[in-house]
Amino acid sequence: MSTHALIALAISLLVSAGQTALRPDAPIKCESCDEWNQPIEGFKVFGNTYYVGTAGLSALLITSAQGHILLDGGLTQSAPLIAANIVKLGFKVEDIKLILNSHAHYDHAAGIAALQRASGATVVSSASGAEGFALGTAVPDDPQIGFGKTENAFPAVKNVRVVKDKEVVTVGPLAVQMHNTAGHTPGSTTWTWQSCEPANPGPQAPKPPGPQKCLNMVYADSISAVAAPGFRFTGDAKTPSRVEQFRKSITTVGELPCDIMITTHPMATDLAGKLKRRGDKLPVDPFIDPQACRVLAANAMKALEARVVEEQKK
Ligand SMILES: [Zn+2]
Repeated sequence: MSTHALIALAISLLVSAGQTALRPDAPIKCESCDEWNQPIEGFKVFGNTYYVGTAGLSALLITSAQGHILLDGGLTQSAPLIAANIVKLGFKVEDIKLILNSHAHYDHAAGIAALQRASGATVVSSASGAEGFALGTAVPDDPQIGFGKTENAFPAVKNVRVVKDKEVVTVGPLAVQMHNTAGHTPGSTTWTWQSCEPANPGPQAPKPPGPQKCLNMVYADSISAVAAPGFRFTGDAKTPSRVEQFRKSITTVGELPCDIMITTHPMATDLAGKLKRRGDKLPVDPFIDPQACRVLAANAMKALEARVVEEQKK
C-alpha cells in the first residue's frame, strides 16, 4: 500500500471512530494544493479556540457545551483532515452549528460543502461570499476571476446565511463578530471573538465564574492585493477603483482589539514557528501578540500602495 493510501485509510478510520460520515468532494488540483494540505495535528490556541486546519490552510474551532463554530474548510481534500483533527481533540463534527467563511476562494471554501453535509451546520458569510457559494466559483467582480471560472471552482453551498458588517452571530454562549474587510475579494470577512481560560491554570484552576483571563481573538482574512493578469485595483473603463475600500479594510484589521491573530494562510503569521516556540516554555505564549494585527495591516498597506503605483504606470 502506498503512503498516500495508508494516510487515506488512517484518516477514514479516525473519522469513522468519531462517528462522522464525511464524504469529501473530488480533490482540488492546484500548484500549491499538496503543500497547503499537509496534515498537522490540531491544537488548542487559547481557551475554547482550537486550530484544526492543515499546515497551509487555517481552520479554527470555537467550542461550547451548546455547540461549536467552525471557521473555514480549506480545500475539498482538507475537509477529512479537519474532521479528523476535531475528533482527535475530543469534539464531534455533528456539534458544529455554524461554519463561517473568510472568503469564497477554493483554498478556504471548497471543504465547506462536505463539512456542512457531515455536521448539518448553517454556513455564514458576507453577501458577496454567499453569491460565490451559490455559483460554486469566484464572483464576477473578484480580482482573480480572470484566472477562469473552472480554475476558481469549488463545490457550491446552498442555504448560506448572509451577515452584515459588525453583525454578531451566536451559538449558545459563543458570539463572533463579522468585519467587512473587502479587497482581496469583494466579500472578504475578518471574524473576532473572545476566548477565556482560568486565570491561574493548574490543578486548582478556578471554574467559571471564577477568575478568568479573556483574550481578543482575530481570524484575519487575506488582505493581499492578488489579482489575475490585467486586473486593476485602481479601476478601468468597466469597473470603479477598489483602492479606497481596500485601504479602509486594511485599516479595520489594524485597529481590531487583537491579542491572538490567526491568518487564513497560517504561514503569513508564522503559526508553525509560534507552535514550536511553545516548547521553549517562554513567560508569554508566543501566540499572544497584541501588535500582530497592526503589523499585518502595515505590511499589507505598503504592498497595496506599491501595487497602486505599479498600476498607475500602465
Ligand atoms: Zn484568496
